[in-house]
Parts: sequence; structure tokens; C-alpha cells
Amino acid sequence: MSASVALRLPSIDGLLRHPACLPLAERYGREALLASLRQLLDELRSSVLNGQLSAVEISPEVLAGRVGERLVQQQRSQVRRVFNLTGTVLHTNLGRALLPEEAIEAVQMAARYPLNLEFDLASGKRGDRDDLIEGLIRELTGAEAVTVVNNNAAAVLLTLNSLGARKEGIISRGELIEIGGAFRIPDIMARAGVRLHEVGTTNRTHARDYEAAISPRSGLIMRVHASNYSIEGFTARVATAELAELAHRHGLPLLEDLGSGSLLDLTRWGLPAEPTVRQALLDGADIVTFSGDKLLGGPQAGLIVGSKALIAKIKKNPLKRALRVDKLTLAALEAVLGLYRDPDRLAERLPSLRLLTRAQADIFAQASRLQPAMAGALGEVWSVAAVQSLGMIGSGSQPVARLPSAALCLRPQVSRRLRGRHLLNLETALRALPIPVLGRIDDDALWLDLRQLDDEPAWLAQLPQLQVAQ
Ligand SMILES: *Cc1c(COP(=O)(O)O)cnc(C)c1O
Repeated sequence: MSASVALRLPSIDGLLRHPACLPLAERYGREALLASLRQLLDELRSSVLNGQLSAVEISPEVLAGRVGERLVQQQRSQVRRVFNLTGTVLHTNLGRALLPEEAIEAVQMAARYPLNLEFDLASGKRGDRDDLIEGLIRELTGAEAVTVVNNNAAAVLLTLNSLGARKEGIISRGELIEIGGAFRIPDIMARAGVRLHEVGTTNRTHARDYEAAISPRSGLIMRVHASNYSIEGFTARVATAELAELAHRHGLPLLEDLGSGSLLDLTRWGLPAEPTVRQALLDGADIVTFSGDKLLGGPQAGLIVGSKALIAKIKKNPLKRALRVDKLTLAALEAVLGLYRDPDRLAERLPSLRLLTRAQADIFAQASRLQPAMAGALGEVWSVAAVQSLGMIGSGSQPVARLPSAALCLRPQVSRRLRGRHLLNLETALRALPIPVLGRIDDDALWLDLRQLDDEPAWLAQLPQLQVAQ
């Protein structure tokens, strides 16, 4: 029998009473310490049996140290702030739009105090949460009514189910899109209980195609803004106004899924044109759906706006209750919509618009300013250059359009064979910083697009901690 086989892990009770563990119990609580100790001992058990650990490695002092590190990790929030230097502003995986201060204050208020979520202060009677933003939506879009749900996917599902269940939904083949993840128009239609009736072809759909599809089984005509891809060349689509006229002639509602749904004409700020909600309604769409956290620049939400009668029907659907938004979202949404009443100052006050409209010269100056610090942190192996780059709006808005931007371009000065590994190591090291830094790899370099680097001091302060594996 070898000596190592005789080793035994200390008992949980012994450890809990050991002086090395007492401060941990004090700091994190006895239950949390117990859970972490159990996990650690379970993991070590087989190594101990196999004689792979020394007596010191399983001493109470060393185990207390390890469990202490574990408790620090476990106490740290899983929801982490990051630097989004990917060049994509409305990044779905990184939380899309950043809220303006006004919305953050509104969220805090709503979180901290009771509020009139479904209570009409004028009459003292029960109210409706959609009423809290209806006035603003009417003013900003020209819609008669609004209802808000969890996101635009929910808005499309709820609208389709409310207006077209057990009937046919007519839609162009060019608009049967997938938004990413599992959101595909044909699947959503099926789940909504609407029978898909596709018309036209991928690149060309005419008014006569829609007309030929209309029958007593028809429930609605749907139009989807092909937000995340573009068809170019020999194409034809029916204008919303013409489609609305056709739908109404046959007594059918026209539903338009605008996706990003801009409330104002973005060309005013030099951005690519996006159809506005107001224009879609003016053109005759009966219901328009759009996201709250894309170009609108607000919280995650799905807005359904349009005719009073149809919105009333949608609100009666029991699914509405399952998809409704909470008070925090509504508070933020109202604050963001409020900023749209003053378009002249919107680009200063709404973070997403401020970031989208940042001048390239300004970003380039920032890149030049930060270049020495980045070069210093990386050392000889890397070349660091301030360069012009191209970013994107993101979230499916204007997939082809590029935003002229500037970046720090980090290139490993090593043989071609080793470049890939160096880039991955740098990417990993940047992610391991206290506030993880996310860039993008392209053309044998790692690019940090600085359009969204607002908090320069925090970014600079953590650079000395960067440790890139060789
Ligand atoms: C983004 C998008 C959706 C989904 O919106 P979410 O708010 O992400 O649920 C649906 N339709 C279109 C056209 C979109 O662009």
C-alpha cells in the first residue's frame, strides 16, 4: 500500500469549522460556503483516490483558498458589461440599443416605487398599460392605436394569430425571410395558425400575383421588410400604397412588418433611408409592427400600431397577456418616445443615434490618440495602426450599407502560419479583461472599431492587465 492511497479529504464539517474557512462563511454566508465546498470536494475525490494529490494540496488551508476563489467567481454577476468594438452598433448578441439617461431614470423609478401601470389616475378605475404610451405613439406615427408586446417577433405572431387564424395569409416569396435564430416567417405563420399562401417569385412579385391569390379563404395580406438581406438586379415589388388599395378593395387588412421601424427619416442625419412607420401607415398599411430596440433606440419591445378596430381585436387575443411587456420596459419606452418629440436634439440625447451619427474624423482622431497605449500594451509582436474602417448598423437594418468608421488594426508580426493562433490568443486575452473587449477578426488582423468607445478612461485603465498567450 503506497502512502498516497492513505490520503483522505478533510470532512465538510471539519472544514466548515476550520479557522481558514470562517472568514468565508462570514463574507458569503454558511450555505454558499457549504455548496462550494461540496462542489470542490466532489471534484477532487477521484484525484485523491488515484493518488494524484499531495497532502499539502488537500490541506484545509489550501482548500479554503481554492473555495475562496470559487466563491468570488460565483458571486460575480453572469451579466457582464462589455466593450462592443465589433463595428456593429445594434448588435443583437450584445444587447442592441443603449438607453438614454431619461429612460434609465424612468426604469429606476418604475423598479423602486408602485406606479399606475394599469390604473387610471383620473377616474380612479382600472386602466390599460398600453394607454401609457398611446398618446405619444399617435403623435409620432399618426397611428390610431397601439399595443406593446415583448419583441417584434411576438408582435408578428400576435397580429397574425389575431387577424388571420384559420385563414390564408398572402405574402410574396421574396419576403419569406429568416431573421436569425429561429424566427422564420413561414414558421411564425404556421404557429400563428395562418395558412401561408405565397405568391410571385423570389425576385419579382406583381400586383396581379396578389390579386390572383385572393379568395374567400384569404384572411390578410402581409408584407415583410426584407431587413437583413437585399435583392438586387431584375426585381419588382408592389408599393405599399398599391398593395393597400388592392387589399382594401377585397376587404382584407394589410399587415406590414417593418422590423427596425424608424420613426423619423434617417437621411436627415446622413444615414441610409429606412421606411418610417408613419409612411407605412400613410401608404395604407392597417397594422405596422416594429422592434423597440433596433433603430428606435429603446428597450426590447414589439410595437403593434395601426387602426383602432384591429388593435382592439389584437388586444382581445388571450395571447396578448402571455406576450405583454413589463413596467420597466414601458417606463423606458415612454421616456425614449418622449425624446422623439424634439428631433433637433435627438442625435445628442439618444445613444444609438448619437453613435450611429458619429463623424469618421472624430473616431479616427480617437484611434490615433489611443494607438500608443494599445501598442505599448501589446509589445513588439504586434503592429498597431489607426485606420479607417467600415461598420454596420446591425440588427438587420441596412445589411448592405456601411458606416464609415475608424479602428485600431492589430496585426501579428509573425509568419503566416502562426498568425491565426496569435489572433485567437489576442481575442481570448481581450475577452478576459475585467470589462471584456470584443472586436472582429478580418484579413489577418484584429479590428477594434472605436465608434462605440464612449468610456475611454475605463478602456485605458485595464489595458495594462492584458496578457496575451504566446
Ligand atoms: C428584427 C426583425 C424581427 C424580429 O424582431 P425582434 O424584436 O428581434 O423580435 C421581425 N421582423 C423583421 C423584419 C425584423 O427585422
